[in-house]
Amino acid sequence: MLQIKNYINGELIAPVGNQYIDNYNPATGKIYSHIPDSDGKDVQLAYEAAAKAFQTWSLTTKEDRSKLLIRIADLIDKNHEKLSRAESTDNGKPIQLARVVDIPRAAANFRFYATGVLHLSSEAQIMEDTAINYTLHEPVGVAGCISPWNLPLYLFTWKIAPALAAGCTVVAKPSEITPMTAYLLSELCIEAGLPKGVLNIVHGYGHKVGAAITAHPNIPVISFTGGTKTGAEIARVAGPMFKKLSLELGGKNPNIVFADCDFEQMLKTTMHSSFSNQGEICLCGSRIFIERPLYEKFKKEFVAKAIELKAGDPANEKTRHGAIVSKQHKEKILSYIALAQQEGGKILCGGNEVKLSGECADGWFIEPTVIEGLPYNCRTNQEEIFGPVVTLTPFDTEEEVLGYANSTQYGLAGIIWTENLTRAHRMAQHLQSGIIWINCWLLRDLRTPFGGLKNSGVGREGGFEALRFFTEPKNVCIKLSPSPTLPKGRE
Ligand code: NDP
Repeated sequence: MLQIKNYINGELIAPVGNQYIDNYNPATGKIYSHIPDSDGKDVQLAYEAAAKAFQTWSLTTKEDRSKLLIRIADLIDKNHEKLSRAESTDNGKPIQLARVVDIPRAAANFRFYATGVLHLSSEAQIMEDTAINYTLHEPVGVAGCISPWNLPLYLFTWKIAPALAAGCTVVAKPSEITPMTAYLLSELCIEAGLPKGVLNIVHGYGHKVGAAITAHPNIPVISFTGGTKTGAEIARVAGPMFKKLSLELGGKNPNIVFADCDFEQMLKTTMHSSFSNQGEICLCGSRIFIERPLYEKFKKEFVAKAIELKAGDPANEKTRHGAIVSKQHKEKILSYIALAQQEGGKILCGGNEVKLSGECADGWFIEPTVIEGLPYNCRTNQEEIFGPVVTLTPFDTEEEVLGYANSTQYGLAGIIWTENLTRAHRMAQHLQSGIIWINCWLLRDLRTPFGGLKNSGVGREGGFEALRFFTEPKNVCIKLSPSPTLPKGRE
């Protein structure tokens, strides 16, 4: 059975304690590999390698860093099929989704920041006749990058790429639930010739490896994506140490459908925004609000489509609804479906675990589930379920639906469907979300700021924001001496 290794100081090595964790294939419910159960000692080794590498990597020219990162992107492309299969096996997502979304985006993340860093410029402020200020953006140091299981390589590289491009070296921890593509990435980094210690990947549990990275006194910058509760714990530890923090956390996103929308387009996209990746995307629109005149038509057609979306073996080309990432997460989703019923919700379709036959007989699958009849402020409509479960709620006015939409502790994304441009702008202005999609979903331009308000996080990823996050501005002020002979400059 495959035994994953840590990637420290340019080498693939066993964890110091020589302990391993079972890694499951969610589609079969069976163990298919072992991953290091690393601890603080492994993090310390990784830190030492990263700190040494920082002395040279931070001084490498942007052009040289860029070339190396592009080489990694090219190797991801070259290994597209292998990485797609690994991601699908590890996470339970349909192979087709991994091929079209996850792996191309991982390569795009490297390419985007490899080229983006070349355009990062320093500003200069002139105080006429008195002084010139210029601002340097220097890499912060060894960066800690911690990522979740839902879009494993996609989100892992979304942190690592800007950190490395900016000149930081990295100690990274992928989720122990989906470590495989991060491991394969370490092999590609070796093949690309990334200098030793520039990127270090330590596998293991959050409470051991993640916590050791967070608490490390010499790792001054932490980029984290995951649940709000974990984000709060990281902030509690890192805050008093004055670390730079980027926290991308949970969501409970509203999908607001007005009666004047392009119905076909809305329905097609709403299927994706509800059930893509089994609903395990922080940006999914799990609360669907429908303007009353459209409610019955929407319900009928949406439920019909949800019934058609059958769970299947993620490795099958035709599957569009795969396995839930872990047994524990499956139980959590099912407990929320039970809660919804206790709260008075009516299940319009789904609601059950699916038992497949053959190889997938012991896998973890849940039907796409649509629920109506719940108040906006019940737990089902307020807490993040992170599965293939959506609620339908009718509304009559913009004010009413804004009240519903903004009622949660979260503020990550919001989706609006209307052909009325004025209303779309008005709604976008009043929705308390960091990301708003109008008549679309998950349309991403990597230059745009990405992140949430309220308990959905702190800081923004994407574009120059991420490069600035991994750098520290340093202002240099040079006083000018007045010329004894030349006239005074313009004020
Ligand atoms: P978790 O918060 O459970 O875990 C995220 C990562 O943090 C994992 O690598 C985890 O390790 C690690 N971790 C756990 N405890 C600690 C700790 N005390 N200190 C440091 N690291 C720790 O999230 P999930 O993996 O369950 O991911 C799902 C969540 O991520 C959802 O809430 C989702 O909304 C959010 N998310 C947010 C996104 C955004 O951009 N805003 C994007 C994608 C997901 P381990 O796996 O061992 O627990």
